[in-house]
Amino acid sequence: MFDYLIVGAGFAGSVLAERLATRSNKKVLVVDKRNHIAGNAYDHYNEDGILVHKYGPHIFHTNSKDVFEYLSNFTDWRPYEHRVLASVDGQMVPMPINLDTINKLYGLKLNSFEVEEFFESVAEKVPVIKTSEDVVVSKVGRELYEKFFRNYTRKQWGMDPSELDKSVTSRVPTRTNRDDRYFTDTYQAMPLHGYTRMFERLLDHPNIKVMLNTDYHDIMDFIPFKEMIFTGPVDEFFDFKYGKLPYRSLEFKHETLNTENYLAAPVVNYPNDNLYTRITEFKALTGQQHPKTAIVYEYPKAEGDPYYPVPRLENAELYNKYKKLADETPNVHFVGRLATYKYYNMDQVVAQALTLYKKLTEKSAEEAPRKPAISGSTELVEKLVARSPSKP
Ligand code: FAD
Ligand code: UDP
Repeated sequence: MFDYLIVGAGFAGSVLAERLATRSNKKVLVVDKRNHIAGNAYDHYNEDGILVHKYGPHIFHTNSKDVFEYLSNFTDWRPYEHRVLASVDGQMVPMPINLDTINKLYGLKLNSFEVEEFFESVAEKVPVIKTSEDVVVSKVGRELYEKFFRNYTRKQWGMDPSELDKSVTSRVPTRTNRDDRYFTDTYQAMPLHGYTRMFERLLDHPNIKVMLNTDYHDIMDFIPFKEMIFTGPVDEFFDFKYGKLPYRSLEFKHETLNTENYLAAPVVNYPNDNLYTRITEFKALTGQQHPKTAIVYEYPKAEGDPYYPVPRLENAELYNKYKKLADETPNVHFVGRLATYKYYNMDQVVAQALTLYKKLTEKSAEEAPRKPAISGSTELVEKLVARSPSKP
C-alpha cells in the first residue's frame, strides 16, 4: 500500500515525493508516462556527448531564498546570468529592450535620461492595461512593439498580443540602462551537473518508487494507494468534461554543428523572420567545453504535448470550472504548471509544491489525534503507556 501515488516526475511531483518520503516517512509511488524523470526540465547528453535540454532551454532563476536553498540540497550550482539577442532589422540587439537596443537600432547615442524621454514620447496612453499589447505599447510605443513583440507573440501563441492577458509580455521588462540580463532575480544559476542529475538525487530514497513509461490510468486500479498527487493536465484528468483547455505546444528541432560556437548569444530571438521563435546554444548555458556545439530551434504549434497554458480570460474561466471540480475531488491534490493551468517558471512550481506539502502535513497533524485505537485522547494513551510496568 502506497501512501501517495504521484502522477508526473517533473518539479511538482518530484519535490512532493522527496518531502513526503524524507520528512513524513510516507511510501510514495511516482509514475510518469515518459521514459525519463525531470518532466520538461529533462536534460541528457546527446550522441556527441553534449548536454542538451530535450524540451527547450531551462534557465533557473528565483528571488526565493527558500526555493534556492531547498534545491541546493540536491545540486551544486554554476553561476549563470542569461542573455538574449533579438534579430531585428538585420541587426542583433539586446532583448529585453534597453539603452543599447535603442542606440544600436536607430544609430543614436542617447543616455539613460534621453532614452527615458524617448520612450515617453513614443508611448501610447492606455487607461487600463489589460492585454499583452497594452503592456508594450504603453511603455515603448507601437513601432518597437511591432518590431519586437507583435510577431514573436503571434508565432508563439497563434494569436495577437491584444488577445492575450497582460501577464504574458509583462514577463519581459523594458530598461533605460545598459543591463542586458534577461532576468534580474537574486539567484541565477544552472545545476552544475544538469537537471536530470538533480532529479535523480531528489528521488533517491528507499520510500520512493519510480515507474516510467507508465500512464497512471494503467496502474491505478491495481496498485493500492491512499492519496493521489496529480501534475498532468487538469482537463485530461476530468476527461475533458467541460471541453479542452488550450495548451500551446512546441516542436523542438535539435542539431549538432561541427563548429565550436555558433550563436552570438546563448539565445537569439527571431521576432519577425522564420517559423521558429528562437535558437538556443546549450554550451553557453551549461559551460561545457566541446569541439562541436548543440542548438535547438523552437517551432510553436497548437497540437502536441502541452507546454504552455494560454493566459487569457476565457481560458481562466474554463480553468476555474475544472478547479472547482478539482477542489471537490477527495484525496487528489493538483499541483504544477499543467494541473493548475498557470504559466509558472520552475521556481514557482517548486514553491507551489512546498506549499502543498506544508498543507498536507498540517492536514495529517489535524487528523492525528483522531487515530489512537485505545481512546480518543492521545494524552490518555501516553499516560497508560507511562504507567504500564516496565519489562524485567
Ligand atoms: P512537467 O515538467 O510538465 O511535469 C509533468 C509530468 O507529468 C510530465 O513529465 C508528464 O509526462 C507527466 N504526466 C502527464 N500526464 C500523465 C499521465 N497521464 N500519466 C503519467 N504521467 C503523466 N522555467 C524556468 O524557470 N526557466 C526557464 O528557462 C524555462 N524554460 C522553459 C522552456 C520551455 C520550452 C518550456 C515548455 C517551459 C519552460 N519553463 C522554464 C517552465 C518549466 O518547464 C516548468 O515550470 C516546470 O517544468 C513545470 O513542472 P511540472 O512538474 O509542473 O510539470
Ligand atoms: N516576447 C516577445 N518577443 C521576444 C521575447 C518575448 O514578444 O523577443 C513575448 C512573447 O509573447 C513570449 C512572452 O513575451 O511568449 C514571454 O517571453 P519569455 O521569454 O518569458 O517566454 P518563455 O521563455 O516562457 O517561452
